[in-house]
Amino acid sequence: MSSPLVIVLTGGNKGVGYAIAQTLLASSSHTPVVLYLTARTPVLGEQAIAQLLASTPPALGSDVRFHQLDITSASSIAAIAADLKRDVAAIDVLINNAGILPSGDFSVQLAKETVGCNYDGTKAVTFALLPLIQPGGRVVNVSSTGGVMRNLPSPALREQFLDPALTVDKLDGLMRKFEQDVEGGTWKEEGWPENAYRVSKMGMTGFSMVLAKENPNIIVNACCPGWVKTDMAPMGTKTPEAGARTPTLLAIGDIGGKTGRFWKDEVEVPW
Ligand code: NDP
Repeated sequence: MSSPLVIVLTGGNKGVGYAIAQTLLASSSHTPVVLYLTARTPVLGEQAIAQLLASTPPALGSDVRFHQLDITSASSIAAIAADLKRDVAAIDVLINNAGILPSGDFSVQLAKETVGCNYDGTKAVTFALLPLIQPGGRVVNVSSTGGVMRNLPSPALREQFLDPALTVDKLDGLMRKFEQDVEGGTWKEEGWPENAYRVSKMGMTGFSMVLAKENPNIIVNACCPGWVKTDMAPMGTKTPEAGARTPTLLAIGDIGGKTGRFWKDEVEVPW
């Protein structure tokens, strides 16, 4: 039997994340895994694992473990990085699934909260765990079709996101500019959509592209799970199990080594 893949999943206690965990465990007879299901609230993560083990017991040689992880907390991120370094030394797959879509009026607070979690949080977790990701390992960012470039009104901004010379510093600059433009009331004339979630996911997908370019020894992809009925999208039309298919494909499936792409419905689509 091949040695299990060490997989770290963020926001695994419910919704698409929970369904990804279920799918990975259901596949564990042919792809053994040691799955670190993480959640920001320990009791929710532990409950999710108990439910998972009851419904989808891992195959022999596979395992599911809990670790607390709040992707907006530097100390929580440092703790998981230190514990994984000690306990497993290397990670095969990081699945950045955790995300928020806060309700409320469009405001600078909402923009900072949303970008702070979906973009800055994802980036911070990734950079903390990157040194542990094996050559040939994978990063999967569960982003959104909301973050595709056709949703960005300004051609000048689109050009910056799609620039092959984009860097993380430049992306940080774009995210901070969005927050400042919202604060200054100039977001519309500067060409941003009135939607912090979309902009945060533009940042998350852009980050995937830069990470792929700068780390050719690993496989990095972003995806949209589709419109999935979860607490985030109660009107969604897909089941969480269907929403988990593309992220799971990118995590453990045969994707021909493709990296730096955006995927939906298990195929590559334009960003
Ligand atoms: P849910 O709201 O059901 O689940 C979100 C998960 O993220 C929860 O586990 C939540 O934890 C966790 N989370 C939120 N903030 C943090 C944080 N700071 N640290 C750690 N975990 C956190 O949403 P979905 O399952 O629908 O969404 C999963 C991903 O899919 C998200 O990134 C979302 O943007 C993306 N997506 C979803 C779509 C949909 O139609 N549902 C469409 C496109 C993209 P807690 O329970 O503690 O809140």
